[in-house]
Amino acid sequence: QPLNTWTTEEIKNAVASHVMTTWSPCKAKNDLPIITHSSHIYLYDSDGNEYIDWTSQAVCTNSGHSLSQHVKTAINDQVDNLHFVYGGIAMTEIRARLSSLISELLPGDLVGCLFPSSGSEANEAAITMARRYSGRPKILSFYRSYHGGTKNSLSATGDFRRHYQQGSADFVKAFNFTPNFFEHAGADEDERVRSALLMLEEQIISENPESIASIVVESIPGSAGVLTMPLAYMQGVRAICDKYGILLHIDEVMCGFGRTGEMWGFQTYPGVLPDIVTSAKGLSSSVAPISFVAVNERMMEFFEDNAPGWGSTFQGHPVAMAAAYANLTEMLTTNLVGHVQSVAPAFYEHMRHCAEVHPSIKGFRALGLYGALDIATPDGEQPHEVHEARTAATNKYFEATRQNGLLGLFRPPHIHIAPPLIISEEEIQEGFDRQHRALSVLDEELGF
Ligand code: PLP
Repeated sequence: QPLNTWTTEEIKNAVASHVMTTWSPCKAKNDLPIITHSSHIYLYDSDGNEYIDWTSQAVCTNSGHSLSQHVKTAINDQVDNLHFVYGGIAMTEIRARLSSLISELLPGDLVGCLFPSSGSEANEAAITMARRYSGRPKILSFYRSYHGGTKNSLSATGDFRRHYQQGSADFVKAFNFTPNFFEHAGADEDERVRSALLMLEEQIISENPESIASIVVESIPGSAGVLTMPLAYMQGVRAICDKYGILLHIDEVMCGFGRTGEMWGFQTYPGVLPDIVTSAKGLSSSVAPISFVAVNERMMEFFEDNAPGWGSTFQGHPVAMAAAYANLTEMLTTNLVGHVQSVAPAFYEHMRHCAEVHPSIKGFRALGLYGALDIATPDGEQPHEVHEARTAATNKYFEATRQNGLLGLFRPPHIHIAPPLIISEEEIQEGFDRQHRALSVLDEELGF
């Protein structure tokens, strides 16, 4: 039978019997809408419902759902000419071109590129390379972070630590500077940053700085709630790395490629340059699974004579690289990052308004088209800011988002909002109209 001929009933039965899910108990799959087609920022399900793609799926469909002729042609041409060679035994023009383009787009001396298939794999590869380059075993990362679901990337992750510990050796966790870090102490931000950096340095000294290969940090921790850090904090992290010869690995998997209104999230911190960058998602806008690792000149030179020591069959996949190259060149010619800057003030204002009018929202952060609302509780109790299981009330809210035509991630106590970067101001307004209706349900369910 050709595709698109099964009835909804047939699809549901097969899903119930055979499909498995990832981070939630598998029966959750039976409540998911069956998406049949998509266009621009909209998705449509088998019952005829329309949804706005309110978090760009997993913050990855940055260029939206209508592929341009430029992208389709690039993919088709690559499939026609050469759909696959294994990157370990053959080189291709598309690999040379994409590596050059990424190096041009990155500031500083980030010159060497590798193309795994996912953000997790990119971090896996980068962690291996940092260890081999430095000859040091330990990786220091932060509690408020998500770096992936494979062994080392999950070991570096803080977000799901309570639920999915990998137990790998030589991963050290530190507290990153979050917006409310030691706020209760009444000190101003400069002083709080100084304290956070002193704590970090003391931890590094206690661990033995010469045992630490890299500090891995999301420039703006995304899953953890879009946590922008002060410039002085990131400058301090860079300075600590320099002082102790530790590599700074910035994970741009979620916020790279324009999400924040700059090409890279780390441009939020002018002058703070990484030694290693990993990214994925927006690279191909999810048309094909592809990520990258870029390393600085010194590492590149080292690996000319030493194997990086990570690999997979599909790294450097020609079709995925063609999709990424076409998506990137289109992003540049249409100035998509400039568009994000132009709609960002309206987006910010809508986020601020949500926090102002809904008692169920106690705070927010927004940068570019990257935002998070924080859910409050009526008795004033501060819920843990780390991811929590859903409750009856937050489940009702989640249902209300779907009923009001929004499809997105939901990880209480944060409500992530990160629509495709092509969204217009009018569509942002339309999305927030729907968001307000869903938040009214949350206000009521939480007893405000
Ligand atoms: N790093 C960050 C910052 C992410 O947000 C994610 C995924 O959300 C990953 C790594 C893992 O990427 P992937 O899911 O493509 O393996």
